[in-house]
Amino acid sequence: MGSAMLQQQMIEQEKELKGLAEKWGKIEESIRQKSRVQWLNLGVVNTSYFFASMKNRNSMNHIRNLQEAAGCLLKTDQEIQAEVLGFYKNLLGSNNNQLPAIDPNFSQVSSLMVNKSKSSVFFGGVDDVVQKQILDYLEFGCPSKHQEDHYYAMLQLVKSVLFAIQTFWAQIFVLPKKIIQLIEDTCRTFLGLVKQRFPKNPLLAWHKLCWPETAGGLNLVDIGLWNKAVICKHYWNLCKKKDRLWIQWVHVYYIKKDSVWEVDKPTVSWIIRKILKGQRHFDEAGYSQQEVMDMDNFSIKKLYQGLRGDFTKVPWRRLVCNNIGLPKWTFTLRLTAHRKLYARTRLAKWGVVDDKECMLCNTNDEDVEHLSFKCSYSKTLWTKLLGWQGISRQVLGWNAELEWAARFMTGKNAKTLLYRMVMASCVYYVWQKRNN
Ligand SMILES: [Zn+2]
Repeated sequence: MGSAMLQQQMIEQEKELKGLAEKWGKIEESIRQKSRVQWLNLGVVNTSYFFASMKNRNSMNHIRNLQEAAGCLLKTDQEIQAEVLGFYKNLLGSNNNQLPAIDPNFSQVSSLMVNKSKSSVFFGGVDDVVQKQILDYLEFGCPSKHQEDHYYAMLQLVKSVLFAIQTFWAQIFVLPKKIIQLIEDTCRTFLGLVKQRFPKNPLLAWHKLCWPETAGGLNLVDIGLWNKAVICKHYWNLCKKKDRLWIQWVHVYYIKKDSVWEVDKPTVSWIIRKILKGQRHFDEAGYSQQEVMDMDNFSIKKLYQGLRGDFTKVPWRRLVCNNIGLPKWTFTLRLTAHRKLYARTRLAKWGVVDDKECMLCNTNDEDVEHLSFKCSYSKTLWTKLLGWQGISRQVLGWNAELEWAARFMTGKNAKTLLYRMVMASCVYYVWQKRNN
């Protein structure tokens, strides 16, 4: 009898608990639906924001009226279109030796024209045949054979391209390795540090070009490392549970109650997997979990520097950095100081040439040591240039020359400035002589 009552009580209790479970289940579902509605609303808010900004951008880019050369104001779209087309047809289709300046009024008043001999045309990703057609059409003649003639402009162009990628693409996307490799190869080839005949043998590794100038680099941005630093920022945001929609979403759907630092989710999407790998990049930069959690602000630059690591200053830095010679001279001097020229011993090692003999003296194997300045040609030239500067000493080996300059030719007085400039020009013209 007693056990039957107990069973009845248990059944009642079960019914009650079932009811409660259903009630709370419904409440949970309604909360979830509410949050989905909130997220959808936020999505709608974002869409209208982007729509408004696109509208604003379109209206800013629209040309409402334009004043032509004669001073007449053009207001209709057709008139403006005809004027712009006419201007560029006149500019590019002209058979004159000189091109009018961009502002025709300025050319008329000042009689100044664009000087073709001082202007350059740069090409990127354009094959030789099309390049020639464009140059013929513009009557610009052949571009200079020596890329280093425009070295400074080319370096600026590469820097601005990398800067644009750094500030935009690398900030919002996780760039695939292949894309980063492609960008680096394109920039390096453009700077003349890779020859088309042997693309797998660049003169300087990319990470060396990204070193500061005092470490013998060109101070370029390492897009791959910058992108890693940005991923770390996303990761830090995740750890700190920043109040952003995507972070909340990742926490709700992937991380749930786990710690971000210990989460291991092989099934998550590619992009989230990449962001979760940020922990590894923090390790590479030497940050512990505690240090990351203690950070109040995140500096991408600081992490980038951590990832790039320490570098050692090269002893010949002043020769290259404080050189007032032409950029193409210092470019060749930098490569020579790195011992990275396409000298014949190097080419022979790659199987490009059979003969390693120096083309200037025909007696020794040609390498950087020999060209600067053991070769009879360069030795005579450098001896004369030393004498001209009033320096009486023997010509030394390349290492000893660099050390001597680093020891005695520092500072900013006229003598040392001249010495550094003359040395760069000597190295450059010896290399030019050898190439011609
Ligand atoms: Zn020689």
